[in-house]
Amino acid sequence: MIKHDIVVIGGGLAGMRAAVEAAERGADVAIVSKMHPVRSHSGAAQGGINAALGNREDDSPENHAYDCVKGSDFLGDQDSIEAMADDAPRQIIWLEHRGCIFSRMPDGRIAQRPFGGAGSARTCYSADVTGLVILHTLWEQLERFGVKVYEEYFATALCVEDGIGTGLIAYNMRNGELELVNAKATIFATGGLGRVYRKTTNGYASTADGTAIAYRAGIPLMDMEFVQFHPTSLKENGVLLSEAARGEGAYLLNSEGERFMFRYAPTKGELASRDVVSRAEWTEIVEGRGVDGCVFLDLRHLGREKILERLPQIRELALDATGKDAIDTPIPILPGMHYAMGGIETDGWGATRIPGVYAAGECACVSVHGANRLGGNSLLETIVFGARSAQHASGYIKNLGDVKPSTKTLQSEQDRIDGILARTGGERHSQVRKMVNGAMSDHAFIFRDEANLKLGMDELRQAREAAATMTVQDKSKTFNTDLIGLLETECLADIAQPIVLGAINRQESRGAQARTDFPARDDEKWMVHTLMRYKGSTTDPEPDYSRKVVVTKWQPSVRSY
Ligand SMILES: Cc1cc2nc3c(=O)[nH]c(=O)nc-3n(C[C@H](O)[C@H](O)[C@H](O)COP(=O)(O)OP(=O)(O)OC[C@H]3O[C@@H](n4cnc5c(N)ncnc54)[C@H](O)[C@@H]3O)c2cc1C
Repeated sequence: MIKHDIVVIGGGLAGMRAAVEAAERGADVAIVSKMHPVRSHSGAAQGGINAALGNREDDSPENHAYDCVKGSDFLGDQDSIEAMADDAPRQIIWLEHRGCIFSRMPDGRIAQRPFGGAGSARTCYSADVTGLVILHTLWEQLERFGVKVYEEYFATALCVEDGIGTGLIAYNMRNGELELVNAKATIFATGGLGRVYRKTTNGYASTADGTAIAYRAGIPLMDMEFVQFHPTSLKENGVLLSEAARGEGAYLLNSEGERFMFRYAPTKGELASRDVVSRAEWTEIVEGRGVDGCVFLDLRHLGREKILERLPQIRELALDATGKDAIDTPIPILPGMHYAMGGIETDGWGATRIPGVYAAGECACVSVHGANRLGGNSLLETIVFGARSAQHASGYIKNLGDVKPSTKTLQSEQDRIDGILARTGGERHSQVRKMVNGAMSDHAFIFRDEANLKLGMDELRQAREAAATMTVQDKSKTFNTDLIGLLETECLADIAQPIVLGAINRQESRGAQARTDFPARDDEKWMVHTLMRYKGSTTDPEPDYSRKVVVTKWQPSVRSY
């Protein structure tokens, strides 16, 4: 049995920030991660991280908070948003003091670029490789504190004894053994769910594992219907071209060479919030003003020097995928699945409804993004709420004696894995993955309506039935990627239904949820969060609308850019 006071599942920015905070507070903390921490998807974040430092123009945490509330289409909980905006400058300086190399202005202060939906230039960055730079800074801190990392351990289940969290079960991918990891506090930091769609900007490991594990253990998922489609993903492979491009002044053009965004967002144009820009692009494409199902991202007027200095990775990604050099050619792009606003329900400290169980980062729904996240706020969320969940967990474990090892969960997980390995004749998991991806991409995309969503729900029911029969061909114990693929697909199949059912039930358009049959926002009825409870592997989830949106200062008003 492995034993620590606090165990963090996931080694991305949220997980590492949580572990460093716990270590600084003197806790015995470890990370369990299915891959090496610096390979986490956080390392792909390009554009930057928001904080109202006010280095380039006047700004304040209050302005930042208001932009988030408006960006969230008034669904974000305003107390958590204020906490995040207030803490942001302190966290940037914390990172900077630990050696994080941010890009600078000529006078030496941290540079800040404008991002979509923001009233001021407040996105701090390291050229266009911000996530990677922060990830390495935190890795150094883990080394400094000697935090133990269980690498290539795949979490399969949460342990709950007498109503409190007592750790997790993890599958050691090197030898195929299941391990009981006993912990007084467990923090989920398992990242996003992009792979539930056919095409996504997310890495291959973004398969909602932690989200599914928490959900199966009885923790509700919140606001799952809100999925962000990023306006600029490459047609060829779905890879993201960061909002930093538009932040630095890039144009969006249609087939007629028109900067069409000003017809949809007269003030902000290309720098409207992501939901607005994605819908505009999709409308241009559907109405016949696209080219081969795409519109164009045009950087040419920025000039070679600026592109090479500020956006080198973006140019390279486009060059690799399309053979086109952004310095002298517009790049074909279209909206692509990018981010999950919803996730494991938590309070403003990352605590879930099960004492001793926390969630932070993209897998969590603290509710700072509401119905639409602003660019640069996700990296911020990982840092702020990674730290806050570890702070709360460190307090929680203080007077807690040893917690009961969950040998029964270890046994039931062993039986489950043995059952999968012994099974023959069922469906291949790649096939089930295709069914889930098809249901989501064909029926729960940018524009939604009841009839289409219901078709998606039917397809997902079939996918979940097929998932219950999934088999692997590789029965070996060493790096059985066939088995891991199956376990990941099971997670995707489980968390897809809450997205679609949430979208069916919410009869309004708000942020990323755009219903063509209910085009208006309905504040009378829908200033509530969607909670979804797990009801078994082939039963539909149970919705609950008892959690109201927290409004502190800003009453809902018309949202225009
Ligand atoms: C291409 C791209 C660019 C982005 N750019 C920006 C940006 O510029 N600014 C911004 O604010 N946001 C950006 N985002 C969003 C942001 O990067 C992510 O939301 C954020 O980094 C997620 O961090 P995380 O720590 O929650 O998860 P991740 O970094 O995804 O880490 C998840 C961790 O969980 C572990 N894990 C998962 N499942 C298991 C399991 N079953 N067992 C054990 N371990 C497990 C993985 O090994 C990994 O270490 C971008 C996202 C993408 C995809």
